[in-house]
Amino acid sequence: MEKSKFGKRFEGKVAIVTASTQGIGFSIAQRLGFEGASVVISSRKQKNVDEAVGKLKAQGIEALGSVCHVSNAQQRKNLIEQTVQKYGKIDVVVLNAAVNPSVNPILQTKESTLDKLWEVNIKTSILLLQDASPHLSKCSSIVFISSISAFQPPPGMAMYGVTKTALLGLTKALATELAPHTRVNCVAPGFVPTHFASYITSSEIKRREMENMTSLKRLGTTQDMAAATAFLASDDASYITGETIVVSGGTPSRL
Ligand code: NAP
Repeated sequence: MEKSKFGKRFEGKVAIVTASTQGIGFSIAQRLGFEGASVVISSRKQKNVDEAVGKLKAQGIEALGSVCHVSNAQQRKNLIEQTVQKYGKIDVVVLNAAVNPSVNPILQTKESTLDKLWEVNIKTSILLLQDASPHLSKCSSIVFISSISAFQPPPGMAMYGVTKTALLGLTKALATELAPHTRVNCVAPGFVPTHFASYITSSEIKRREMENMTSLKRLGTTQDMAAATAFLASDDASYITGETIVVSGGTPSRL
């Protein structure tokens, strides 16, 4: 990503992005930072946090890192407290953490796995926003990261897809509850070859198959997802709330 290409829509703004030391979350933090935001990044591992902060700072981005496994209540509180201590407010929160721990059909998924999917993919985002809400600025913006799987949960990741469908509803519900000062929107990425989705690039045949499921005949990039997220988080989207943008190169996405 080239910094000089972008505007400065986030000058003076403070953005928290969860699960942001690599992949889509990192690119979102980088894009918001290129556009002038002070970005607060986090993930489970200190080493990853330190490396990601180093990369952002080397690109001239004001960045703070905090270890935050989203399931850890104390680490969620620390993330918010450190942000407010350093920057005094929160303008943007991007909720990007997710797990996909099972390839089983839903009725053969263990209760502990169902709990984990609900916990990481949905509940912890709500809890983090509960901690963040007293500090949200008057024109703040929240963006959930859902998935193309929300629209047609695929075999092998069906329950993951269902949790991502729930985020579409959570977006609508919170958009109503938090209006008029906070907008709440959602990005549903298509297939992006990250660590999380390493199955996409497990073979050339699989990769082609995934590319051919798109109209544009290519996989998405983390930057494609960052661009849509930055749009929704910015004042360019100031009359948009409760909506989901599907960024999937035309992969069908009807509920
Ligand atoms: P990724 O490249 O594997 O990155 C995952 C990031 O999350 C890492 O920084 C990881 O760092 C952190 N992380 C993992 N578990 C965490 C936890 N419990 N708490 C806090 N941080 C955690 O993944 P990605 O593909 O960018 O996925 C990001 C989001 O996009 C997810 O919500 C995913 O569902 C969604 N998505 C991805 C695709 C795709 O094709 N890639 C498609 C649709 C939707 P640590 O290891 O240090 O924790």
